[in-house]
Order: sequence, then structure tokens, then C-alpha cells
Amino acid sequence: MTPVPRAALDEVPLYVPKPPVARAEGVSHRLFLNENPYAPLPSVLAEISRAALTAHHYPEIVPGELVAALAARLGVPESDVVTGPGSVGIYQQVAQAILEPGDEVVYAWPSFEAFPIVARIAGARPVPVPLRDGVHDLAAIADRVTPRTRAVFLCDPNNPTGTSVDADGLSAFLSAVPESVLVVLDEAYREYSTSAVDGVELYREYPNVVALRTFSKAYGLAGLRVGYGVARPAISAALRKCAVPCGVGGIGVRAALASLAAEPELSERVATLKADRDALRAALVERGVPVPPSDTNFLWLPLESRADEVAAVLERAGLLTRLYPGVGIRLTVGTAEANAAVVGVLETVFAAA
Ligand code: PMP
Repeated sequence: MTPVPRAALDEVPLYVPKPPVARAEGVSHRLFLNENPYAPLPSVLAEISRAALTAHHYPEIVPGELVAALAARLGVPESDVVTGPGSVGIYQQVAQAILEPGDEVVYAWPSFEAFPIVARIAGARPVPVPLRDGVHDLAAIADRVTPRTRAVFLCDPNNPTGTSVDADGLSAFLSAVPESVLVVLDEAYREYSTSAVDGVELYREYPNVVALRTFSKAYGLAGLRVGYGVARPAISAALRKCAVPCGVGGIGVRAALASLAAEPELSERVATLKADRDALRAALVERGVPVPPSDTNFLWLPLESRADEVAAVLERAGLLTRLYPGVGIRLTVGTAEANAAVVGVLETVFAAA
């Protein structure tokens, strides 16, 4: 008989069940993973090429220079900085470090699709709490915290709705939740946000907060898998124990360091993407497409029963978006060409409606 995987996995869906299909010919735009549409900056590419010459070496088990650079930048002790193969890798470290079978993990829904997966793989019970009018319902989330709750996962700004939590509401929430509950504040999109919430400030104030960030989005290094977080020493030490040794590759580390050095240029790119986001939203709203404001590098189209059909039309035009069947479409802000193509297609779809 072949080995039998753990029964807990029976309930675990694949991370992304059905990626959209790229057209065989013609241009396709990848608007389904909230990637940065721009390739790394020349200075970062140069560092990647240099680092590639040492690809036959193992990276450090913990990337010391990157940890030191992040600690200095954030004004936190090096002991409190954790790194992982993307921030999604750090969720697995969180799960291994703190979740026992039967524990509960509370999170808003819809939100980052990894949340129920991470909980279930650990044998924990996912407790989704519906968004209210597209935003985190912090009072309802606090209500669902029980003595079995070990963690709350909060994505801010939220994927897929692009909305931010209310800063005062979050402080009240953190004061109300028992300190024994780990609150993971996922700030993957924070560079695109205008919200007042700063997870690193909250980690300073509340000992149970872990702030997670990534080089994948605004820094445009999704392919190199570098995520990081800050947590108090007791937690960060446990997260480091659960990290895959050498999990952050050496090329990624050099690229991340070069990106930190290229901050002004990267900020300009972020500013452009934010302006493009707002312009794209305005153009769509003007054409009758329902699009709430976004604090991220993507837009959320809550099309409900029309979502599947509209995503299919976009896909046929080479515009690959993320469909939430029967709920909505998440559309990454792309290059000027991609954004203009989105407006062109949706204009036709909505004019016909
Ligand atoms: N958090 C959120 C909210 C995300 O949307 C994503 C990527 N889709 C991640 C974390 C993971 O990013 P990475 O692992 O590339 O850092």
C-alpha cells in the first residue's frame, strides 16, 4: 500500500486552483498575481547578475546582512527580524511555531487565500469572518476569538478587496484581543497604501503582533522569494527555528539589498503605479464598472453573478485576471498598455449591458 497522506490534507485546496490561460499568440498581460509590471531596476539587475556567479554556493542559513539592513531601516533589534522564502513562507513558519491540531485561526474572508490552507495543513480550524461592506469587521473578528484561538490573520490592505482597516479600530481590536493570541498583520501591499496603519509601530506597542512584509510586490522581486517580518524575540526565535535552512536564496538576498539601496527610484515606480491605479479605477467607474477605491496595486470588481463571464472575455483578450467565481474579479494594475486594454474590453462589455 502506498503511504497515506495526513487526513488533514483532504480538506486543503490547492493554493490557486485554476490559473488563467495565456493566449497562444498575441500579447498576454499577467494581471492575476498582483505582480509589479516592471522588471527589476538596472542597478538591481546588475547585482542579480553578479550574485548569479556565486550560485554554486549555499546562501547563509539566516541572511545576516539583509537582517541587519532591515533592522536598521525599521529601527528594530536584529533579533526581531525574520526572513523567509516570500512572506507566504513565513506563514508556514508561524503555523509550525504556534499551531497545534484543533487550534483556531480567525481571519476575515474573502482575504489572502493562503489563510485557510495554512491553518488546515497544521490541523487547525479555520474561522473565516465575512467582510462587512468590503472591509474587515474587527468587532465581529474579536467576537470569534475563543480560548481555542491561537492566531488572527489580518491582511491590511486586504487582498482581494484592496481595502485598509481603520487605524483606530485596529488599535481597539489589539487592546481587546488576549495577548496569548498571535496577531499576524500582513502588509504585503503597504507601499501602495495611504492608510495610517503601520505594523512595525503596532509590533512595538503590542507584544503579540507580527508584521509581515515582502519584496515581491512594490519591490518587484516576486520571482526571487524574499519576505520578512518583525516579531518580539520569543516569537521571532521560534519562527527562525521553523525556517527552512537556506530558504532565502543568495541571489534574492543581494537583489533585496540592492533594492533597499535603490529606494528613491522604486518609490517613484510605486507613485506611478498608484497614479495609474487611480486613473484606471476612474476610467472604469466612468464606464459603469463597479470598482471600489483601492489601497493596493490591484482593483476589485465585485461583479457577483457576472464575474465568470467578464473574466472569460478579458482572458480571451489576453488580459489574465484572478476570478473569484460568482463573487468578483481581482485585476492587477499593469503597464499603461495593459490598463488601456482593460478599459477597452470592459467598455465594450459594460456598454452592451
Ligand atoms: N500576503 C498577501 C496578502 C499576498 O497577497 C501575497 C501574494 N499574493 C503574499 C502575502 C505572499 O507574497 P510573497 O510570498 O511573494 O511574499
